[in-house]
Amino acid sequence: MCKGIIKRNEAIYRMKKFDTRVQYLKYKVLREVAKLAFEDRLLEGLCDIPEEIIPGKQPTMRCCVYKERAIINKRVKIAMGGNPNSKNIIEVIGLACDECPRGGHEVTDSCRGCIAHRCGDICPKDAITFDAHQKAHIDKEKCIQCGRCASVCPYSAISNRKRPCEQACKVNAISTAYDGEAHINHDKCISCGACAYQCPFGAISEKSYILDVIELLKNSKNNKKYKLFAVVAPSISTQFVYAKLGQVISGIKELGFYDVKEAAVGADMVAFEEAKELADRGFLTSSCCPAFVDYVEKQFPHMLKHVSHSPSPAAAMARYIKETVPGSKVVFIGPCTAKKMEAKRPEVCEYIDEVITFEELQALFDGKGVDIWTLPEDDLVHASSFGRVFARSGGLSMAVHQGLKEHNITDFQAKTLACDGIEQCKVALLKASKGVLQENFIEGMACVGGCIGGAGCLTHGAKSKLEIDKYSDEAPEKTIGGVVKTLS
Ligand code: SF4
Repeated sequence: MCKGIIKRNEAIYRMKKFDTRVQYLKYKVLREVAKLAFEDRLLEGLCDIPEEIIPGKQPTMRCCVYKERAIINKRVKIAMGGNPNSKNIIEVIGLACDECPRGGHEVTDSCRGCIAHRCGDICPKDAITFDAHQKAHIDKEKCIQCGRCASVCPYSAISNRKRPCEQACKVNAISTAYDGEAHINHDKCISCGACAYQCPFGAISEKSYILDVIELLKNSKNNKKYKLFAVVAPSISTQFVYAKLGQVISGIKELGFYDVKEAAVGADMVAFEEAKELADRGFLTSSCCPAFVDYVEKQFPHMLKHVSHSPSPAAAMARYIKETVPGSKVVFIGPCTAKKMEAKRPEVCEYIDEVITFEELQALFDGKGVDIWTLPEDDLVHASSFGRVFARSGGLSMAVHQGLKEHNITDFQAKTLACDGIEQCKVALLKASKGVLQENFIEGMACVGGCIGGAGCLTHGAKSKLEIDKYSDEAPEKTIGGVVKTLS
């Protein structure tokens, strides 16, 4: 095939499956690593990575071919599990992180050189000077980024230029190191992956455990040694837009999984318990989103006592599988990078063996040559409509109201607040800390839109919420209790 056609096909392929070119670039590396691992050629094959991934003589994205290769090599390492000495799953690829300006407050061309000099007067550090044309200049060494100058400029001529990762990080875990690279404060980071998704150079990435998953698949000896289950997040219904959901399920089994279960069943279990817990305790925050729970632990430790004691839906489902199928193993597949951290927690690691994202599942499909759109459709009918709608902001709150109704609890009224992204979570937690929050239940989701906005999604389209609602409506079971009953 001629190069032009290959390029056009690649473009169509990329547009169908991924939001951005950066995702596509990371995926290509994951796919190649997965392919070599499936073929048992990892060690020798790494020297043989195709030119579309490791450039030959000409650079394709960077200033020189040597730098480009060095960056790809680092991506390969992250695809193979990343830096074992770093506990965080988020890693900065230093070499790829050299294009952002230092950032901070800067005077733009809109400065009219006025004579009021309000910006200079309000600056508490005397960081602003004026040239012969009365135009303002900010001394970066003195500036403390308080933003007061920007707030008083009548021409909005002072802007705060933050690097995209810093802007994306709502817990202020990212700063610029002395060498200009992004630096992540791991004590603040909640592994939400927003920085990785937003970095325009793909210089931040989460560690991948696809090799461990491939090992689990191989070692199961066709599910004879142990049964390997995939637990899929309900947001899977918004992904793989080029195929039907039933074909995705067939594809997962084609990879070698014994069976595929809905994490939404775990959501049903959680909602049933959480509704009762809320009525008993009077005030509660959710525990479903691992990044939100991590945020509470790190920034609002005094609020930890109010976090629900329920496990996350994925952990609840994995626990159920392990209790009913002794010796089995579980891989969670979802949109969430923080789930990779959750799976390392002592109370969760015995239930969830590995975690991969939808991006990584796509790499496994293509690495093994599983063309899902050619497969027959398989079933995925276990959860209730309420368990499925957890995937979007507001879904858990709906389920908690339903849970109270199904428990027949009439002497307690739930007032739920769905928080969409960390900024809203912060406001709610601050109000709750001061005792001024009107509501008695905080649904905390770190990603904007809920799980459908997760960093490990292939696509984050505006249609995702509608897709989830449709998926929820399609569930034959319309009560939470109806699902929970089948489990006991
Ligand atoms: Fe911030 Fe989330 Fe990135 Fe951690 S993963 S640095 S919390 S944006």
